[in-house]
Amino acid sequence: MSAGCVVLLGAGPGDPDLVTVRGAEALRRADVVVYDSLVARELLDLAPPHAERIHVGRRGHEDPIRTQREIHELLVARARAGQRVVRLKGGDPFVFGRGGEEASACREAGVRYEVIPGVSSVLAGPAFAGIPLTDRRYAASFAVVTGHRDESRPWTTVRWDRLATAVDTIVVLMGMRNLARIAETLIAAGRPAETPAAVVMDAATSRQRVVTGPLAEIATRAQQAGLHAPAVVVIGDVVQLHETLAWFETAPLFGRRVLVTRPAAQAGALASLLRAAGAEPVCVPMLQIVATPHGPGVDDALAAIDAYDAILLTSTNAVAPLAARLAAAGRAIDALPARIFCVGPATAAAARQAGFRAPLAPTGRHDAESLLALLHEQLEPAGRRFLFARGEPAGDVLPEGLRAAGARVDEAVLYRSGPAPVDESELRAALLRGDLDVLTFTSAATARRFAACLDEPARRAARACVIGALGAPTAAALAELGLPATAQAARADLRALIDALAEPVAAGGPTR
Ligand code: SAH
Repeated sequence: MSAGCVVLLGAGPGDPDLVTVRGAEALRRADVVVYDSLVARELLDLAPPHAERIHVGRRGHEDPIRTQREIHELLVARARAGQRVVRLKGGDPFVFGRGGEEASACREAGVRYEVIPGVSSVLAGPAFAGIPLTDRRYAASFAVVTGHRDESRPWTTVRWDRLATAVDTIVVLMGMRNLARIAETLIAAGRPAETPAAVVMDAATSRQRVVTGPLAEIATRAQQAGLHAPAVVVIGDVVQLHETLAWFETAPLFGRRVLVTRPAAQAGALASLLRAAGAEPVCVPMLQIVATPHGPGVDDALAAIDAYDAILLTSTNAVAPLAARLAAAGRAIDALPARIFCVGPATAAAARQAGFRAPLAPTGRHDAESLLALLHEQLEPAGRRFLFARGEPAGDVLPEGLRAAGARVDEAVLYRSGPAPVDESELRAALLRGDLDVLTFTSAATARRFAACLDEPARRAARACVIGALGAPTAAALAELGLPATAQAARADLRALIDALAEPVAAGGPTR
């Protein structure tokens, strides 16, 4: 039990997809996640279900739920108990995040720690506002300072008089409360009053707002516009570039609230694309996957399990119920005579984890056609016997393809999609309030379940939204339900759906 450690992890500025690959991996392996207020909640979902999540509520320098000393004690105690502790902090842990103090506490306690940097708001604020921190035309240097003043702590003091003319671009964090004084001080120390300045609030999120103005006026303008923390202030000639380089707030879906109706397990990819487009995904899964370990064909398959040459898994959903039935029957999962073939790496990983021996998956595309090609390559299907561990409904490319090649294919239904619990009155209320700008559907079944949640006023409100459909069957179902799609994806992929939404939204789709 001595493997405990503390990972000081930068969560990035707000969009969960801006965490690093290594950071996401650390979260997946965490026993406990100790997190601040500003971190994206989606990141907490990356931690395993058993992992404890402890909110320590630090919003920059404000209102901690626990004192810094209590946080140190918590980190050290958990690591000493052998746990992998992820200390998740907004932005980067070593930029005004007190990550240094936490590292020192670990060091003093003899606890192993590592640091995984994050995308600091120092970088994300300017980047998402289209303001390069350096630019050969305007700036060769930048400095980052805190605008928070605490007279009792001289080491937090910024030498504003020296700073004013020492660098080209100045980035101020935690500067909103003192912005007027900061601007005055810089001007008094020689920075021209007309120096362009910008305030970027809630950078990298669908709520991002940018206000610009000359240094002498920036505080008043930001205040008039109602801007507040968290925000970064950027001062310097580079700010001029915002006018031509702004890209995030000008994207068509920026700030729109988009309903995602896919099952929770599949909603993530669409939600990520929507956030990247500046939208706010609102995930209300209409369907959920239900394991059917006693589904049609499963008993027969189990009785014949030693006769199969290969077992085909086309979804992670099939793995657990199949493994459970094998275990209940007293079968060693790693000693089955059948070879295991999976549709893609995620399913193969799940199969491996469940104990199946050496699962294979196609390396290129992850679909039934590629799996069929792999099977032809790996074993001559004619005369062989296959078990297709499938869902309901399922495509027939794989079983039909194998049968056509002279194989015998048994099918066992190990999961099906069924209605997910939905707070229908809340959904109707959100539609009536006009909270949702866009509704997206990626299958006929989700569209039907959605329509069944509505009453007539809510249906009218839904019709006023931009309605996006992926695939012709989905669009047909929507038309039948009286909710005709206003945007249909040209290709069967999620990005095409997002692209298709842009035009109707820009063409006067409802605005909030
Ligand atoms: N370690 C963090 C900074 C913590 S101090 C980082 O590297 O980003 C908290 C300050 O960060 C806030 O007062 C604000 O100035 C800035 N900040 C954090 N997230 C922000 C965001 N999404 N948009 C703008 N500023 C942000």
